[in-house]
Amino acid sequence: MKKRIILCSVIAFVVLLVAGVVGVGVFGARTVNFENSLTVENKTEGVYVDFSSHSHADGYYIYRFDETQKETIATITKLNKTAFTDETAENGKMYQYSVQAFNDEGETFETQSLDIMRIETPEILSVKNGVGGIDLSWKKIDGVDKYTIYREHKGAKTLIAEVSPDNPCEYTDETAVNGEKYKYAVVASADKYKSATEYEKSNTYVPAPENVKAVNNNGSISVTWSKVADADGYLIYRKTNGNKWTYLGTFGNDIIGYTDTDVSSGNVYTYTVKALSENIYSGFDSFGVSTNYVDAPTIKNIANVDDCVKITWNPISKATQYRVYKKADGETNWKFIGECRSASFTDSKVGDGVGYRYTVRAVGDKGGLSTYLEGKTITVLKMPGIKLYCGGKAITVKWDIRPLATSYRVYRKAGNATNWTYIATVKSDKNYYTDKQVKNGVNYTYTVRQVYSDIYGSYNKGVSTKFYPAPKVTAKLSPKGLRLNWDKANAGTGYFIDRKTENNMNWTNIATVDGLGKVTYTDAKADYGYYNYYRVRVKGTNRISDTVSIYGIDPKIPAVALTYDDGPHPTVTHDILDVLEKYDARATFFVVGSRVPEYPDCVKRAGKIGCEIGNHTYNHKILTSATNSQITAEISKTNSLVKNITGKAPEIARAPGGSFNSRVKETVDMPLIQWSVDTLDWKHRNANSVISSVKSSTRDGSIILMHDLYTSTAQATETIVPWLISEGYQLVTVTELMQLKGIDMKDGSVYYSAS
Ligand code: ZN
Repeated sequence: MKKRIILCSVIAFVVLLVAGVVGVGVFGARTVNFENSLTVENKTEGVYVDFSSHSHADGYYIYRFDETQKETIATITKLNKTAFTDETAENGKMYQYSVQAFNDEGETFETQSLDIMRIETPEILSVKNGVGGIDLSWKKIDGVDKYTIYREHKGAKTLIAEVSPDNPCEYTDETAVNGEKYKYAVVASADKYKSATEYEKSNTYVPAPENVKAVNNNGSISVTWSKVADADGYLIYRKTNGNKWTYLGTFGNDIIGYTDTDVSSGNVYTYTVKALSENIYSGFDSFGVSTNYVDAPTIKNIANVDDCVKITWNPISKATQYRVYKKADGETNWKFIGECRSASFTDSKVGDGVGYRYTVRAVGDKGGLSTYLEGKTITVLKMPGIKLYCGGKAITVKWDIRPLATSYRVYRKAGNATNWTYIATVKSDKNYYTDKQVKNGVNYTYTVRQVYSDIYGSYNKGVSTKFYPAPKVTAKLSPKGLRLNWDKANAGTGYFIDRKTENNMNWTNIATVDGLGKVTYTDAKADYGYYNYYRVRVKGTNRISDTVSIYGIDPKIPAVALTYDDGPHPTVTHDILDVLEKYDARATFFVVGSRVPEYPDCVKRAGKIGCEIGNHTYNHKILTSATNSQITAEISKTNSLVKNITGKAPEIARAPGGSFNSRVKETVDMPLIQWSVDTLDWKHRNANSVISSVKSSTRDGSIILMHDLYTSTAQATETIVPWLISEGYQLVTVTELMQLKGIDMKDGSVYYSAS
């Protein structure tokens, strides 16, 4: 009874509905509509068969046809139930369904039959945050053509992708937005049939950190990543040499970097990072980023060696190779310059005076590279170019001036020596060194190192020469000019004559003498009135004579020699020297040896201004009445006293009183100088008398006798000197006078004048 009442009310509702909407007759229309009222669709539990109720029905049979048979799979007698789920349909199989209504009067009404392929719902196995989106995976359904992915977001459902069943049952929703919540459905379809659409699992998207990088430092690895918006923290995981992930810790949102100090050379470390946002974890890159950690080599030593830079460093365990980098002063980027297996490297591509910084990176046995350390700097100091010259008694080592050098160190190998011997440090204001410790015929090799601050420059193999002395050169005046003589050289093809003068202190080659036989040269174009300097170079060798200097006096101009005997005197000699100096004139002083130690400054000064010092015995002894040994002592004592003061022993003598005989000439054994103008100053002690004597008797080549003991003589000198000059005379020493006139003075000979 109860059943009927419910049925009646349902029928009444349906009748009202259909009558209202369709406006057709109740019974007839029902029958027709029932035939077309079937729908079938795949639901998760099975094939869902749905139909309209029939007003005359007391029940329904649900029929299912497969290829082989038609069977009744259900009988429904509950009249309010017009649907049935066929849970026995097999996935991938085609079925036909129809429904037949029946009643107690034996009437039946049957729907048309509908085809459907049973397709199971692909169960979503997981929806989770991945790398670059939300990762979905679902259970594979056999026999389907494709999977269609739908997404529900804020109530809107959209188709977002189709996936071929040839691919894995996975999809990454890359359009997911950080912080948004999504629900997904996966629908499998085959031909026109499809599985149920079930929005099951939801996920709030938190992106995985991107740009994860692991970089070797010295003693640690830096792991960095890009910040994920709104993340509350990051979880760091590491694996060593491909083993399992180990959780290293969670770090706050303000950190986008982690420094892993628990590392050792030769291990591969792999890192991955997860973001955490409102208790939801992002996905993570399961491959991670790897680095083969290698300790960084420390440069132990950096040095200038053989005009290159040699770098050595501490070897690194598990390193198979080293890579060397440098940058020159002012450069910002490291430049790779080479690799090697040993812990040292030589860089030959360096410029002298340039500063470089070097660093070395180790390559690990599994391929990693150590970090760049700051490295070490050096200023390249190559060996300067060297030239060697053999002088009279020494080898001169000359080198190119290097702009940075603060000093130079000179080294030598003598003969067959294999090791360098340090011989000198030369300050940078000089670029040569004279090595006097040399022997004839011995081979010498030299090298020079620059020193800049505390940096020592390179050695190299150096430059060699055999030492042979250069010719010794002498210079004197002659009637035709300044005359040079030198020793004949034992090698070479001739001689170069070089000159410099007070007015031009650069060496100038003034003549070439071909062949070794001729060993004299007269310079007719000397700089008269100044000092002239000469050297002789042996053509075809590195021999350069020592420099000789000579005061230039013009042989074409008349000349006289003033001579002063019996000094030195503390005031008179100086007064005379004052006059001579004032007029750039010179004279000859025949000194008494016993007075020399008392007034050495007079002698010294006379020598310094170009005057000649002659020997006038030690005690002013009349030599004709002295014994031979007394004569020898008188002469030699004075010679050595003068030499001590001026550095040069007298080369001429004057006998006291002008007294000599053949025994005296022979024993003195020096040129004996008399005079041609006797002023008798010792007798008159009168300046005017001296002056008139000079004015009346002097001619070209005269030797004038005076004594630097008397004030009157000094006064006379004040007049004589300018007068003689005004008369056109040059005032020269006795030796100069003789040379100008071409007189070759001989020991034991007597000379009165040069006219
Ligand atoms: Zn005298």
